[in-house]
Amino acid sequence: MEPKYKRVLLKVSGEALAGDNKTGLNYDVVTEICKSIKKCSDAGAQVAVVVGGGNFWRGRSSGAMDRTRADHMGMLATTMNALALADVLESLGCVVRVQTALQMAAIAEPYIRNRAVRHLDKGRIVIFGCGTGNPFFSTDTAAALRSVEIDADILLKATLVDGVYDKDPHKYDDAKKYETLTFTQVIGEDLGVMDSTAAAMCRDNHMKMLVFDLSRPDNIYDAVMGANIGTVVSE
Ligand code: UDP
Repeated sequence: MEPKYKRVLLKVSGEALAGDNKTGLNYDVVTEICKSIKKCSDAGAQVAVVVGGGNFWRGRSSGAMDRTRADHMGMLATTMNALALADVLESLGCVVRVQTALQMAAIAEPYIRNRAVRHLDKGRIVIFGCGTGNPFFSTDTAAALRSVEIDADILLKATLVDGVYDKDPHKYDDAKKYETLTFTQVIGEDLGVMDSTAAAMCRDNHMKMLVFDLSRPDNIYDAVMGANIGTVVSE
């Protein structure tokens, strides 16, 4: 079976990599996620990944610390996750490249768009670390930006709920799930699925996004193959 999406940008939050541990890395979870990514690649899809860092550090939760410095630490946290994902993917037999928005020449390639696309064309999995490389941004915005830059067919946003709801389904029994949405609704109704900078980036650049549940890691593969899961958000 051919994948529905030939080139995807997968956003995995740091939180998702922690599993039940809540912080740090849960290797059982990381391995399941990587197995599903490998299946996508084996099926012929080109997979790029933007990884978050919230399992180690979030700039906006850093209290009195200078925000720019706290965000620098957050970007380092994303790089730790990028290296961990790369390591597990390689152990599964994948060819992987990590590219970081802030230069760390000894441990990863610098982010170079054309080079990233070349890796993808060769079937390599590319993991983007350091978000956008700028403080006051999020890895959701990095995912939106990179998806547009590499001309991905879709941005796959893996979360811990099975789509976008009108209110938190973990708190309200009557929360209603959306099948489809627009980025204008996401921004206007403050739906909390991603920050407004990221949503505006997708909207203004015609990027489509699927929000789906990563507590079943094989949903990554199902999403790439075109299964009807989650909530589709478009312009
Ligand atoms: N960050 C940043 N610029 C970016 C992306 C991330 O400064 O372009 C920092 C910021 O401090 C953020 C942290 O990295 O809190 C981790 O990213 P994020 O909170 O998006 O991770 P997630 O919540 O997806 O795990």
